[in-house]
Amino acid sequence: MIDLTNKTAVVTGSTSGIGLAIASRLAHAGADVMLNGFGDPEKIQSIRKRMSETSERHIHYSAADMRKPDEIRSMMEQAGSIMGPVNILVNNAGIQFVEPIETFPTDKWDDILAINLTSSFHTIRNCLGGMKESGWGRIINIASAHSLVASPYKSAYVAAKHGLIGLTKSVALECAEDGVTVNAISPGYVLTDLVEKQIPETAKARNMTQEEVKTKIVLGAQPTKKFVTSESVAETVLFLSSSAADNITGSNLSIDGGWTAQ
Ligand code: NAD
Repeated sequence: MIDLTNKTAVVTGSTSGIGLAIASRLAHAGADVMLNGFGDPEKIQSIRKRMSETSERHIHYSAADMRKPDEIRSMMEQAGSIMGPVNILVNNAGIQFVEPIETFPTDKWDDILAINLTSSFHTIRNCLGGMKESGWGRIINIASAHSLVASPYKSAYVAAKHGLIGLTKSVALECAEDGVTVNAISPGYVLTDLVEKQIPETAKARNMTQEEVKTKIVLGAQPTKKFVTSESVAETVLFLSSSAADNITGSNLSIDGGWTAQ
C-alpha cells in the first residue's frame, strides 16, 4: 500500500474530472490536499467537505486563476503556510478549444497556453526550492496523447501539451540529484466535461455529426475502443508518488489505449 501520510499536495484544476479523481486518490492515501479550480462555490464546498470526511485529511481550496501569475503565487504561498512545504505538485488544470487556425480566436490561444503550459512554470518555480531542501518531491504534469501526436484544429492545445513535455524533461534534469522527480502522464480520451464540450466544436470544424465524432474521432483514436478513466490516471499519479518510482524522472507515461503506438 502506498502511504502518503504527512505529505502535502497541490492539484491544480481539481474541482472536476481528472484533477478531482487525483486529489481524492492522494487524500485517501494520506496526503493533505489543496484543491483548485472553478465552479459553483457550494458544490466545491461540498466536494471539499466530503473528501475531508472520507479521507480524514485536511482538504483546502484555492480559487486561483491559472491564467494569472500573481494568483498562482498566492495559491502556492497559501498552500505552504497552511499545510507546510508542498511535497507533491500535480499540474492538471487545462482547457481545450477546437477551431481551424485561420479563425482560431487569439484570446483562446492565449488562455490555453497560459493554463495548459505557463501555469506549470509558475507553480514549479514556487515549490521546487522547498522540495530540493527537504530532499524529496514529486512533480506530475498531466499532458495528453496530444503531447506526442497532433490532431487538426487543436493547434493551441497540441502546442501547449508538446511544450509541457519539454518543461517536464528540462526541470527533471535540473533536480535529478535532489530526490525530486518530474514526470508527465499522457492520457487518451477521458469522458469529462472537457471532452463533452469539444464534441459539438469538433463536429462543426470537421463537418460531421456529433455521433460520428464520438465513434470515428474520439473512440476511433484508441485501438482499445474504450475511454480512459480518471481513476486510472489517479492511480498512476499515486504510483509516481511512491518509492517504487524514485528513479523514474523526465518520463512521459501514456495511458491512451494504444493511440500513440500506431
Ligand atoms: P475538466 O474540464 O473536467 O477539468 C478541468 C479543471 O481545470 C476544472 O477543475 C476547471 O475548473 C479547471 N480550470 C479550468 N480553467 C482554469 C483556470 N483558468 N484556473 C484554474 N483552474 C481552471 O477537464 P479534464 O478532462 O479533467 O482535464 C484535466 C486535464 O487532463 C487537462 O490538463 C487536460 O488537458 C488533460 N487531459 C484530458 C483528457 C480528456 O480526454 N478529458 C485527455 C488528455 C489530457
